[in-house]
Amino acid sequence: MKYINDYELCAGLEVHVELKTKTKIFCSCKTDFGAEPNTQVCPVCLGHPGTLPTLNERAVEYALRAGLCLNCRISELSGFDRKNYFYPDLPKAYQISQYEKPICEGGFLSIETESGEKKIGITRIHMEEDAGKLLHTKERGTLIDYNRAGVPLIEIVSEPDIRSPEEAVAYLRELRSILLYAGVSDCKMNEGSLRCDVNLSVRKKGVAEMGTRCELKNLNSFKFIEKAMEYEYRRQIEVLEGGGEIVQETRRFDESSGKTFSMRKKEKQSDYRFFPEPDLLRVEISEKMIAEVRSSLPVLPKERREKYCESYGIPISDGVILTQDRKIADWFEKAAPLTRYPKTCANMILSEIMAFDESESLPERISPENMASLCDMAGDGTINSAVAKKLIRRMWKSDIDPEKVVADEGLAQIRDRETIRTFVKSAIEAMPKAVEDYKKGKETASRSIVGKAMGLSSGKAAPDIVALLVEEELLKL
Ligand SMILES: [Zn+2]
Repeated sequence: MKYINDYELCAGLEVHVELKTKTKIFCSCKTDFGAEPNTQVCPVCLGHPGTLPTLNERAVEYALRAGLCLNCRISELSGFDRKNYFYPDLPKAYQISQYEKPICEGGFLSIETESGEKKIGITRIHMEEDAGKLLHTKERGTLIDYNRAGVPLIEIVSEPDIRSPEEAVAYLRELRSILLYAGVSDCKMNEGSLRCDVNLSVRKKGVAEMGTRCELKNLNSFKFIEKAMEYEYRRQIEVLEGGGEIVQETRRFDESSGKTFSMRKKEKQSDYRFFPEPDLLRVEISEKMIAEVRSSLPVLPKERREKYCESYGIPISDGVILTQDRKIADWFEKAAPLTRYPKTCANMILSEIMAFDESESLPERISPENMASLCDMAGDGTINSAVAKKLIRRMWKSDIDPEKVVADEGLAQIRDRETIRTFVKSAIEAMPKAVEDYKKGKETASRSIVGKAMGLSSGKAAPDIVALLVEEELLKL
């Protein structure tokens, strides 16, 4: 596209996260996902006249935890407001939300980009209740499940600091791991407990003012977020270059065509006629409560990957993947100090274990001790990498002691040159065609001879010595 390099993408994200409290935010109904429709409801969450909401203290604590993990200022005094809108999934015809004074403001989150660490500002985090769920069917029209109505949510609003679809995904991944570490949500995009809207605008490079933005809704996977942003970025540039104007609106992403379509003109904040919720008291948060929550927070991914980099020389980009799942990071921190080769341990997790199905079950499958002795043997050359890979696959199935297996089955690496030379000679003898190709100048032909010699050693020969001796023997011919 002709003008694409003249423009810059500016995006901010609004992320809705369901808090994993046992009960809803203003009543004692359960919040279990997947229950029979309309079995987790009561007069409060169904909006019957005369009922009164009671605030769930645990929801406040979780919002506070999220805010502290995202470096926010905590409001000593915050409150709820009514957001009025009429939609069948909202039985009261208003949503209880926080408008004037949210519980958290002014935080940030750091992501790793190709050019290093970047801070993305967080404008605010506010608490609110979720709406019910509409189910559109052919046979029976639109059905409503109110089980979700009243499930506690936090909405995390970022500054428009995001400059590419990749940065948006990096932000979401980091946000998701932080919330998982904090233990406030299960963050399952497929069950809707983490939902993301993107506000996107474009501007000419060098211009300070933001362009008119569009809101992209219903993005339920990282892949779709990237695709929708990519499409919308180009669409807006095309409109502007064609002499048109961007209209502020809400757009829907269509998964099959990969395009975005206008849904409706964006409501203005005044359309919601916000006013303070008269049925709830203000929310007061004491210094003591903040200190208590702060002292119970886990070490977060960023601090962990920095420590891995400093202590073990693990690249930050690997650390990002290693710390995404807290269970795996905790397990790695147990195994790493037990081996002389912690970097080998990290590489095995990244290249081998993460390729297995259900890789997150690692802590239940392999003990840190057995992993450490495997890494020691691989690191000091007792076994070669092919044997290490085979062993890790066996350990994944049952937690065997790799040192014992290596001793029992004679899997130790062969480094003796004369022993290896006999394998190499046999390989050369067995492959006259490859030898001929090599003589004709096809240098890659020696690779198949290396492979054959490795096979003859049952995979135990040291690959570097095999390669060296194959070259040596071929030159003699
Ligand atoms: Zn209820």
